[in-house]
Amino acid sequence: MKREFIIGIDLGGTNCRLALVDEGGQVLDGRRFSSRGYERGRDLIERLVSECRNLIEGADNQGARVSAVGAGVPGLVDAQGQVVTAPNLGFLNGIPFAQDLAERLKLPVAAMNDANAIAWGEKIWGAGKDLHSSLTVTLGTGVGGGLILADRLWIGVDGSAGEFGHINVEPEGPPCGCGSRGCLEQYSSATGILRSVRAALGAGQASCLAKLEPEALTSAEVGRAARNEDALAVEVLQDAGRRLGQALAGVANLLNLDGVVICGGVAESLDLLLPSLQEELFRRAFERPARRLQIVAGTLGDNAGILGAALFGSKPDVVWAA
Ligand SMILES: [Zn+2]
Repeated sequence: MKREFIIGIDLGGTNCRLALVDEGGQVLDGRRFSSRGYERGRDLIERLVSECRNLIEGADNQGARVSAVGAGVPGLVDAQGQVVTAPNLGFLNGIPFAQDLAERLKLPVAAMNDANAIAWGEKIWGAGKDLHSSLTVTLGTGVGGGLILADRLWIGVDGSAGEFGHINVEPEGPPCGCGSRGCLEQYSSATGILRSVRAALGAGQASCLAKLEPEALTSAEVGRAARNEDALAVEVLQDAGRRLGQALAGVANLLNLDGVVICGGVAESLDLLLPSLQEELFRRAFERPARRLQIVAGTLGDNAGILGAALFGSKPDVVWAA
């Protein structure tokens, strides 16, 4: 019997990555291209079709076949794989993404929200394996969330569930891209952390980070500075952890989950966020659900989205039907 691969697509607001994935969760033959600058959704679909065909040909040369395609898309995706809205890739709004790709490739295609793809990847092949009910939080440019309830994905009635990053943590805080203000994303994403650092530097607070060129200031640099006991960096990361704990206390009380999987670039500084996160969680949540909530770092790194999308492509029947 021919070896089977699935194509996993991780479509981001800046780059698109796609790869062949084998049945054991190995990522092979990855490709990347810029997802910016397309005027029409169909043009991006065309590019994806040709990239997928290259991967299919590559699989064929190895005596293998591609059986399905799964994609994670940064936006609201309905149960049929249609993009309802994609704030950073507006040209995809209203595009029947999965259907279009399936017709062109003559393969089954499933599409889901990118944060849900990460959650599903970590659930099956990563840090969420032993957690029946969990929230996967991605701390990157924004704060993404994917909710697993009793071993299945809960995407909500309209597919919009799991928006953990837009839980309010400061009623009159900075305006957020979602239209609200003071969302968790404004404090605990990489962008939020850098905004806090810049604000403190602008207010004249001393820090080794002041010496960096603006473009060299990253959340990884903030983590490094905090490990060297830079007071400003420590303070900003503690605040990011505290806000996370504040939001997670509500989640723990509402859902009584087994755990939280923290992914994304900022997760490299998880140990620096954890003390204030835990303190805030226990201060605010009921004791039982707070104790139950394991907080672990994701283990799949940058591949979580591709792996989760591939898993979803091969077996889309993992979502709680609303
Ligand atoms: Zn928001």
